Amino acid sequence: PNEKHEPLKIYADDKESFFQAVYVPIKLTETETEGEKQVGNVILLKNITEFKELDSAKTTFISTISHELKTPISAIMMSLKLLEDQRIGSLNDEQQSLASSIKENSDRLLNITGELLKLTQVETGKLILSPKITKPIELINYAVSATRVLAERFGCNIEVEYPEKIHKLFVDSEKIAWVITNLLSNAIHYSKENSRIIVGAKEVDQTIQIFVQDFGKGIDPRYHQSIFDRYFRVPGTKVQGSGLGLAISKDFMEAHDGKIWVESEIGKGSKFTIAFPVR
Ligand code: ADP
Repeated sequence: PNEKHEPLKIYADDKESFFQAVYVPIKLTETETEGEKQVGNVILLKNITEFKELDSAKTTFISTISHELKTPISAIMMSLKLLEDQRIGSLNDEQQSLASSIKENSDRLLNITGELLKLTQVETGKLILSPKITKPIELINYAVSATRVLAERFGCNIEVEYPEKIHKLFVDSEKIAWVITNLLSNAIHYSKENSRIIVGAKEVDQTIQIFVQDFGKGIDPRYHQSIFDRYFRVPGTKVQGSGLGLAISKDFMEAHDGKIWVESEIGKGSKFTIAFPVR
């Protein structure tokens, strides 16, 4: 039995079909003293080809839509840039504030379409890694500078904890920097204003770990697994979002043979860790 419960692909009659396997152990009690003995399995195969086809149609649909949306959003942002240019004429305070609201929302739209595109890459198996040797601090520095404006806006103070000696990583730095940026952006969004956030790296038991710790609202233990599922958001979450960031982060980490997890307590804050095996 495969642990991940991935469907079985069977090629027959010139057609690919997908089956979900369920293993039912057959147990026999031969003598009173010996106890139960497993003598085999009954394997039930459920044909899920139709669902698979629908799922792939959905992925293609999302991919096309998000791709198509990117161009008009970029055009909106370009026009906004021009609008803010003094040479075209200056905006009064109210117009300025409307323009910055348009910018904020276009940024969000662009972010969401980017996340949807990343998701479809994972789902269609088109996730290609280009790994290279990278120091963990380079990835951390990238993420800290990518979230600087956001951190300033919320008055968050980001501290970096970095050991003197740590192995280098062999990873797709663009994807892992994206994961850390996403964790930092969550830490800022789900903390109170003017909070502390710690981002750092350490080596533990043959793994290189990078963590992002906040002292914000924390996450109920009931949701520590589900927050890594697609589109899942903790019930009652008011901050706007898509529920995709952590799911994509998990996919990116698994593609690197790595792991991602959270330790968190309501009211005390959360610590997200990503870990890579030392090679
Ligand atoms: P999004 O933030 O877009 O909703 P994510 O996949 O990044 O999507 O996060 C899923 C959910 O996990 C969030 O909606 C939020 O409820 C919860 N969450 C993530 N990070 C934190 C954090 N640092 N503190 C508290 N809750 C968090």
